[in-house]
Amino acid sequence: APTVGVLALQGDVREHLHSLAATGLRAVGVRRQSELDAVDALVIPGGESTTMWKLAEAFGMLEPVRMRIKEGMPAYGSCAGMIMLADRLEGGMEGQQTFGGIDMVVRRNAFGRQVDSFESDLEFAGLGQVRAVFIRAPWVESVGAGVEVLAQADAGDRIVAVRQGPLLATSFHPELTGEGRVHSYFAEMVRES
Ligand code: GLN
Repeated sequence: APTVGVLALQGDVREHLHSLAATGLRAVGVRRQSELDAVDALVIPGGESTTMWKLAEAFGMLEPVRMRIKEGMPAYGSCAGMIMLADRLEGGMEGQQTFGGIDMVVRRNAFGRQVDSFESDLEFAGLGQVRAVFIRAPWVESVGAGVEVLAQADAGDRIVAVRQGPLLATSFHPELTGEGRVHSYFAEMVRES
């Protein structure tokens, strides 16, 4: 079976490892380049994107992850992980960098300006109703032509799940609710690639 790494610099790594184990794929934490080299796909967890960026820089992981994404490695980011997969960021800290890969503008702490966290049932393309937990969550402000919108919140006003080729991102945290279908969806993407 393919091996999926979970970027283990900061964030809810354990929850993603647990969700991935249920998909039948092998899942391991990834902190350094040698560990990244050994995985077939990468999950970027929820957490705090400014901290994740600084640690990725300190651990020499910014460029290696960017390179793997450019080479077509499947990746999934939830919340802070979505931010890390955005080509362009709004509301970021001064100088804040991402890995990029998905042709989208993500607005950081977008929902958080109104309310820190909330739960909602969303229609997720191909999966049906999905229970979604948002915690100081970003939303997707705009997407390029190659990006598929998979779920929206606020009566269709806000994009909260997208896919571009082998890259998947959600504003919410399926790893925190026991909602296994988003990880299964990603596992299917990994098996196909
Ligand atoms: N607000 C966080 C950030 O900017 C993301 C929150 C989360 O991952 N739950 O990184």
